[in-house]
Amino acid sequence: MKIIKTIKSLRVFVSAARNAARTIGFVPTMGALHRGHISLIERSGKHGDFVVVSIFVNPTQFGPKEDLAKYPRPLRNDLRICEDHGVDVVFVPDAEEMYREEELTWVNVDKISEPLCGRFRPGHFRGVATVCAKLFNIVQPDVAYFGQKDAQQLAVIKRMAADLNFPLKVISCPTVRETDGLALSSRNRYLSPQQRKDATCIHRSLRTAHEMIEAGRTNPKTIVAKIRKIITAAKSLSSIDYISIVDADTLRDVSRITGKVLIAIAARFGSTRLIDNLTVDCRAR
Ligand code: AMP
Repeated sequence: MKIIKTIKSLRVFVSAARNAARTIGFVPTMGALHRGHISLIERSGKHGDFVVVSIFVNPTQFGPKEDLAKYPRPLRNDLRICEDHGVDVVFVPDAEEMYREEELTWVNVDKISEPLCGRFRPGHFRGVATVCAKLFNIVQPDVAYFGQKDAQQLAVIKRMAADLNFPLKVISCPTVRETDGLALSSRNRYLSPQQRKDATCIHRSLRTAHEMIEAGRTNPKTIVAKIRKIITAAKSLSSIDYISIVDADTLRDVSRITGKVLIAIAARFGSTRLIDNLTVDCRAR
């Protein structure tokens, strides 16, 4: 496994694989790798790709009051995980390699970036879309793998790739969970034992919502109220950013549950912000 820090060397190394007719698979991450990230790496490996993983804690997607400085950076362990899972190249640039002193070009994906997390994290998706556009230009992958766990990010990247004609396929991979349902996240390590226990209410509420829709409920307000009731019962909950039921493609609020909808939640336990979601396809019923 090759570990590369500069854009120039990365380009040389990946182009050799491309010239050898390998499909270039790309898994962008911020490190602190867990089974969620590993599932993306394995998916790329199974596909037979030449697997490139980036580990870059992207400063431009953090707000001024967010946890950039304290974001975990267990690089040695991350590299071992990559090695153990057959990654071909790990790209670990520093911020100076990725950004000029004054970056003047930004990628904004309108509309899709605005609701849900966009309302609570201004500028976040601009940072995400910009760094992914840069990474796509640097790595030039044929396929890029993203987790459904970050459903809005996935929608933003899919749209950006289509709108800007990136010649790559964006693959969505299912959310990997703990046995009690909590979605794996690099931020789970910040939860106290009580918060960790309580945080399972998020997935439990999503499952209840799913059952209600399966049982024929179509009014989003009734379902959102039920989710709110389940989550607010958790003792260590600090606040709920949003509970939303939106169209799975446009991320616009729906007034009636038909077609494919995304039920998305963001809630805080202490200062740790957790997100989770579930897609329900009513057409499949
Ligand atoms: P991050 O390091 O948090 O930026 O995440 C890197 C990639 O891993 C993103 O595409 C995430 O959606 C994905 N990911 C994070 N957590 C999970 C999970 N629990 N299951 C599946 N994919 C995940």
